[in-house]
Amino acid sequence: MGLFVPDFYYDTIYDVKPELLKKRGVRCIILDIDNTLVPYEIPEPTEEVRAWLKLMIDNGMKIAFVSNNHSERVELFNKTLCFPAFPDSWKPLKKSCLRALDAMKCSAQNAALIGDQVFTDVLAGKIAKLNTTILVKPIKDKKNIFFRFKRMLEKPVLHKYKRRESKINGKKTEEK
Ligand SMILES: [Mg+2]
Repeated sequence: MGLFVPDFYYDTIYDVKPELLKKRGVRCIILDIDNTLVPYEIPEPTEEVRAWLKLMIDNGMKIAFVSNNHSERVELFNKTLCFPAFPDSWKPLKKSCLRALDAMKCSAQNAALIGDQVFTDVLAGKIAKLNTTILVKPIKDKKNIFFRFKRMLEKPVLHKYKRRESKINGKKTEEK
């Protein structure tokens, strides 16, 4: 179960602050695209996404896209950004992260992964033993039965995350 529980769980990518990453020693980010940065049907980064990416770069982060989507989608999305990008990456396989780390010349200890799915993104980050694995809520889910089933399977994992967080917060209050 531990392999599925993210280190942090946020509503959106915009809740991920450079200060948090820097404090943890993160210098590079492996980033999912679909439903993490934009919904499936948006082909290019929005101004909001660009601003967030710039904030990360300005704070010294390197970025690589690792997506299980096909190369046309990923290339078009990355066309004006020109980050290292790996489509058809087969997350959660370890090689999906290792190739991106290699491209960024970054070690797993200095890397974070951000994505919207427990069984591909979070698991990939954990298998590759990255410093930090961050889950964000999917922007917009496909409404088919397969996706619903997958989200249903994620529920116990998110429950576990929330229980752990409330334990940590409980302890902090006790210490005060
Ligand atoms: Mg995704």
